[in-house]
Amino acid sequence: MNWGLFGLLESKRNIMIFIIAEPCVGVCDTACVEVCPVDCIHPPEGWEKGNDAKDTMLYIDPEECIGCGLCEPECPVEAIFDEDEVPAYWKGYIRKNYEFFGRDYNG
Ligand code: SF4
Ligand code: SF4
Repeated sequence: MNWGLFGLLESKRNIMIFIIAEPCVGVCDTACVEVCPVDCIHPPEGWEKGNDAKDTMLYIDPEECIGCGLCEPECPVEAIFDEDEVPAYWKGYIRKNYEFFGRDYNG
């Protein structure tokens, strides 16, 4: 067993993941994108800042998010949450973020 690698995998599994929920829909000002150090926040393909944002939101790739939390305070509508703190009525958005990137969600 390579214990260094094991520790790395463990720490990766235990980091917080951030999720974007409903308040982003129709806003999409991309303030979060500007601060993300790993460029893991994305809109649907073809959508760009300045386009009509109706029915559009951005998503965080849970496999790429390093849990730094820099995006959370930047959001003007408080749409970003630590995965464990998403309000019950928006829990469905956790799956939406995972599935947007084709990731398995086992929550
Ligand atoms: S927590 Fe950090 S890495 Fe994750 S989406 Fe926000 S800014 Fe990006
Ligand atoms: S800062 Fe908030 S509203 Fe703006 S794109 Fe990011 S999650 Fe959506």
